[in-house]
This record gives sequence, structure tokens and C-alpha cells, in this order.
Amino acid sequence: MKDHAFDGFLPRINSNHRTVLIAGGAGFLGSHLCEFHLQQGHSVICVDNFQTGAMANIRPFLGRPNFSLINHDITTPLQILQPVDQIFNMACAASPPGYQKNPVHTMLTNVMGAKHLLDLARDKGARILQSSTSEVYGDPEIKVQVETYRGNVNTCGPRACYDEGKRAAEALFWDYHHSFGVQTRVARIFNTYGPRMHPDDGRVVSNFIRQALKDEPLTVYGDGSQTRSFCFVSDLVAGLVKLMNSEETEPVNLGNPTEITMLELANIIRRKTNSESKIVHLRLPTDDPKQRRPDICRAKTLLGWQPAVAFEDGLAQMIDWYRSELDGARLDDAL
Ligand code: NAD
Ligand code: UDP
Repeated sequence: MKDHAFDGFLPRINSNHRTVLIAGGAGFLGSHLCEFHLQQGHSVICVDNFQTGAMANIRPFLGRPNFSLINHDITTPLQILQPVDQIFNMACAASPPGYQKNPVHTMLTNVMGAKHLLDLARDKGARILQSSTSEVYGDPEIKVQVETYRGNVNTCGPRACYDEGKRAAEALFWDYHHSFGVQTRVARIFNTYGPRMHPDDGRVVSNFIRQALKDEPLTVYGDGSQTRSFCFVSDLVAGLVKLMNSEETEPVNLGNPTEITMLELANIIRRKTNSESKIVHLRLPTDDPKQRRPDICRAKTLLGWQPAVAFEDGLAQMIDWYRSELDGARLDDAL
């Protein structure tokens, strides 16, 4: 592992071969993106500060000739000597407890981190994709969120460091594209779940599965009538890759439009895990969005993308993975 500057050269295998830099590559989504690109025969430079990522997510890739790891915080500039073709910016704590732990750092990750990666993309002539979020819509006033909706967001609340930071990053991407011609892509990602989501990261699917498997009460915040739409990780990775390789510079929603309430989710997970756990209701966090569902017409039309994994099938895969994790294999890599 190296700090700050990567001065090694990963091999270029053929003309279709790419060098892909994945910031946040040790996290949930980033590690799946690393795996996908390695499987395709590309070279991967993973950049991560391990704030919420886990070494276990990338351990299988260490030692491969086309994988390298840089321990680096993107709030400071990053120097890479070798050519880079594509940059995925996946770096930012994504769970509300994770990103609210150090809100100033979250904002700086979103804004300064985006700037440093955009500067790198400009320097290298690389394409760069921003992992934006449905949070840019805030607590939406429309039932299905389309990309042209401008959102109902709060600059003065506990979620602001994340959702306002992501909005500022989108603006910076727009500016680098229009001012400097950088090939930017913006994915507005809706709630995604699957293996490698850290069991203790505080998000709802990970909390409920962990609680159900440990026979602990499932903690539903508020009355549980708020909704989310959950996309399985393999679908999301396919969408991100299609967007990166498209010519689309406008933001594109990526998510699964199947919408459920958190109370329904708790009951599905209890059933699928055969759990006897009770449901308890805890305080609804400030500014918690009441409802969320993506309009994915743009992704369907422009990318030919739509999710393929049914929620019950994705959950089954995630539950299997959690069973093996909670059996003790990996939790040395605590958050
Ligand atoms: P995650 O917390 O598992 O991964 C984030 C990774 O970024 C971690 O490895 C973390 O250590 C790293 N990181 C954080 N700050 C950093 C910094 N300053 N410098 C370097 N590395 C840093 O989260 P995730 O679910 O994999 O999310 C990845 C990206 O996708 C995030 O940007 C998130 O905002 C976005 N996103 C995710 C979802 C989702 O449902 N998973 C939804 C919308 C958007
Ligand atoms: N939530 C819940 N119990 C939990 C964790 C979360 O009821 O243990 C709720 C939370 O209040 C929100 C929804 O589940 O309404 C999704 O929360 P998550 O943190 O996964 O994502 P986000 O709020 O960022 O969409």
C-alpha cells in the first residue's frame, strides 16, 4: 500500500484494455466495481481512506498484477503518474450514521474530493463518473422522482453535509464539463443493497438483516410508512458501467422502481430469515425523506438499462452472505 502518490505502472494488456481508477473502491459499491473491471481484464487503481470501507472487501484482489491500492483521502490532491482512462468517484460514507459522524469531512469529501478527481480527469483526459444520489431530491414532493425535479432539500440539517455536498459536486461536474470539456457522467443512485454492505453501517437493509439473524428487535424508525425503492448491487454496477461508457453528460437516475414501506421491509426480512424478532418503533430521524421512487425512463432510453434482479432474490443472496459474515469470518474489519 502506498500513500498519496501512485508511481507504479499497471500493465496495459491490449487496445481495449483500460486503466480504471475507483475512489472509494474498498466500500460496498466500489469493491463490486473493482471486481467487475478486474473480471473484464482491465487494470484497477483503488483509492480509499478506509473510513467506512473494509480491507476484507478488496483482499481477494490484493497481489493481482492489474490491481493496486492507494491509501489516500480525496480531500487532498491525488497524483497518479500513469495514464488513467476512467475514474469512478464512489468515495463518500453513504449511510446516515456514517456520513453524520464527521459532517465537515463529508462535505469536504463531496466538494474538494470531487474537485481533486475532476482535476485528475482533466489532467489525464479521462472520463469521470460521479456517484450522486437520490438524496439530491431531498424529501420529494412528487411521487416518482424524475431527473428534471429540482428537489426539496434543507441546507441546515443533519443530512445537509451529504445531500447538499452531492448537489455541489454535481454542479462542479457540470462546470468542469462546460468550462474545460471534461467528459463527465453523473449517476443519481437510489438505495442499493447486497453483499459487502457493512453489517454495522446503520442502513435499513443491513440493520434489519443483522437484527433478524441475531434475534434482536428490528428497529423501525417512526411508524414505518416511509418508502424506499431498493436496487440489487449487480444491477446497479451494470447501470454505472453503461452510463460511464455512454455519451450522456446529464444526470441519470439508477435504481429499482419497486417501492415498499419500511414496515413491509421489516416483515419481509423476518419471513425470509425465519426470525422470531419483534418490531420496535424508534424516533424518526430529522429530515428523513417520506418517500422515494426513481423514474428510470432516461436510463431505459439512453442506456438500455433496467434492473433485472427481483427484490426477494437479491435479499436471499444478501441474507446468505450475512449469515456467513455473522458466523465470524470477517468482522475483524469493523467500521
Ligand atoms: P460505502 O460507505 O460502503 O463506501 C464509501 C467508500 O468511500 C468507503 O470505502 C470509504 O472508506 C471511502 N471514503 C469515504 N470518504 C473518503 C475520502 N475522503 N477519501 C477516500 N475514500 C473515502 O458506501 P457505498 O454504499 O459503497 O456508496 C458508494 C458511493 O455511492 C457513495 O459516494 C455514495 O454516496 C453513493 N451512493 C450510494 C448509495 C447506496 O445505496 N449504496 C445510494 C446513493 C449514492
Ligand atoms: N430506517 C429504519 N430502521 C433502521 C434504519 C433505517 O426504519 O434501522 C429507515 C430510515 O429512517 C429511512 C429508511 O429506513 O426512512 C432508509 O434508511 P437508510 O439509512 O437505509 O437510507 P436513506 O435514509 O439514506 O434512504
